[in-house]
Amino acid sequence: MNNLRRNFLKSSLLLSAGLFLKTGDIMSTTANQNRNLARQKLKLTFKPYTLDLKHVFTVSSNSRITTPVMLTEIEYDGLIGYGEASMPPYLGESQESVSRFLSKLDLSPFNDPNDIEDILHYIDMIEPGNTAAKASVDIALHDLVGKVMGQPWYRIWGYDPEKAPNTSFTIGIDTPEVVKQKTLEASPYKILKVKLGKGNDKEMIDAVRSVTDKPLYVDINQGWKDKQYALEMVHWLKERNIVFIEQPMPKEMIDETAWLTANSPLPIVADEAVQRLSDLINLHGAYSGVNIKLMKSTGMREAHKMLNYAKAIGMKTMIGCMTETSCAVSAAAHLSPNADYADLDGPLLIKNDVFDGVKIVNGKVTLNDRPGIGVKKLI
Ligand code: MG
Repeated sequence: MNNLRRNFLKSSLLLSAGLFLKTGDIMSTTANQNRNLARQKLKLTFKPYTLDLKHVFTVSSNSRITTPVMLTEIEYDGLIGYGEASMPPYLGESQESVSRFLSKLDLSPFNDPNDIEDILHYIDMIEPGNTAAKASVDIALHDLVGKVMGQPWYRIWGYDPEKAPNTSFTIGIDTPEVVKQKTLEASPYKILKVKLGKGNDKEMIDAVRSVTDKPLYVDINQGWKDKQYALEMVHWLKERNIVFIEQPMPKEMIDETAWLTANSPLPIVADEAVQRLSDLINLHGAYSGVNIKLMKSTGMREAHKMLNYAKAIGMKTMIGCMTETSCAVSAAAHLSPNADYADLDGPLLIKNDVFDGVKIVNGKVTLNDRPGIGVKKLI
């Protein structure tokens, strides 16, 4: 809603409430408000922060114990919108690259945060890539606009928060004893996501299955290099209550993945193969599902478009995250009522969250009714 329309509605409400002001009074009040708003600028600030992980986190390509992030704020008219970029090193962005990108932005031509499409289009056109850096501005802007409107984003989008799915909890690659221990510690969660693809796949699944029969997602992180082996593993996993297979082969192996998807009894979900909407459109049926993450999609705006596109063409949809604070994960959670699956365990994997936001209650993604993305800064 633009400022003029907001002021008109305010004036109309005053009139209908019996507060009969003279037309001149209304006109001068509106003009003053518009002059004040016209002076308002969007002010972006950012600072680096390092997340400490609770456990060494190993996937098929690497291990790490920290994740660098950038925390952003956009200030406008006494309100602050919060955002975040998370940069797991293997994705190519860093605190230096995000800082360099954000330093190039000039939001001074914009004086109304409601112009989300124009503002984010300007940011996207500055240079390609930098998806996490762009997401950090997108999230802060959405938080700000939700606060201006006084509504949480799930309500602005028309989603029922009760329909948010259970989140999976991730078990990284490790020895059978550690995997058993981690699985037991994950007892509050109704679904587990098991990382595979380092050559000990059956050992990993047997270790998990020795202590729980919960449904599992498996994420290969491009670790399988042979389509026949992949299909044999999919059939083996199908017998062990696995819901879907995520990114089984390298993203470049499009034809082999399409063959696997056509022959697989389980959904084959793209993660590394899909960053943005254009990647999703270019898949041409090679996958039957997609893991949408704000740090890949450039934020909430494009993730929302991807979710709707994927659903429209019959793909399974997942809302996922990196290791992130409750800021970026809360932003993603607003999309989850419209997704088939959620993997929003980021804040659960870190020791030093700086936000209070979405909660996982009995394994379920549980949104609050605060406006914007629903977070409070803790320090
Ligand atoms: Mg993945």
